[in-house]
Amino acid sequence: MDEESKNRLTDRVQDATAENLQTLTCPACGGGLSIQYTSRGKSALSVMCGHCMWRVIRDGLATEPLWVRELGPKIQTAKKAVEPPVSQLTGRQRKAQISSAASKKR
Ligand SMILES: [Zn+2]
Repeated sequence: MDEESKNRLTDRVQDATAENLQTLTCPACGGGLSIQYTSRGKSALSVMCGHCMWRVIRDGLATEPLWVRELGPKIQTAKKAVEPPVSQLTGRQRKAQISSAASKKR
């Protein structure tokens, strides 16, 4: 993730509607984003991807993003969309069962 992509994404986050916001994903891995808006002191917007471990913080926002009122200040996007299919095919192992019939013969 280069700085330009991060900035572009942060722009989109800042301008997104509540509906749009939740469809935003990491441009690098397509995973969901952790987004947090804080308004203590100066306002700041933090966007990060838990997979790629990058984080962008933009502070000094002029206005509160639209989605904050609807969704709250802390959001995880694309919750449902990205879940890698777990297709682990374990080869069947046939276990030869040795039945030891202990037959006692006189
Ligand atoms: Zn990512």
